[in-house]
Amino acid sequence: MAKKASSKKKTQTKKTPAKSSATKKKTTTQRSSSKKGYSKKDLEHFRNIILEQKKEIMEEIATLRESMMDSSTGEYTGENSSYSIHMADQGGEQMEREITFMFASREGKYLRYLEDALQRIENGEYGYCRDCGTLIEKERLEAVPVAQQCVACKTKKSKQA
Ligand SMILES: [Zn+2]
Repeated sequence: MAKKASSKKKTQTKKTPAKSSATKKKTTTQRSSSKKGYSKKDLEHFRNIILEQKKEIMEEIATLRESMMDSSTGEYTGENSSYSIHMADQGGEQMEREITFMFASREGKYLRYLEDALQRIENGEYGYCRDCGTLIEKERLEAVPVAQQCVACKTKKSKQA
């Protein structure tokens, strides 16, 4: 009887450290999984940065489109149009329009990058380097939310070019 009781006690004492180690294992798994991909909270954070940039780009494009309309048709008589018509009189219209187009396409391209990044967040593919597959540093993504390469791969590529 005494032996049984002691064995019971032993199993009980054994169970307790086993439980705590299981909890430790869980925390480790959570940590390593966050290394594999960004958490929902982080992704939400990146999404907000992207949406903010998208808003800015949309506004820029809208302004560029407006100014393009002003100088090409001259129909829109806004406050800015008289200024651009005045510029056109000085012979700078052609050049100005070309510059506007260039900017518009560059903004347009960046808008597509932002859309792609949003899509990658939806798919759960966001934040991975497309070349080596490692997770891109958070600071880098905060600075360049459309980044698809880690710093190492980006540096490699720019060295090659
Ligand atoms: Zn990489």
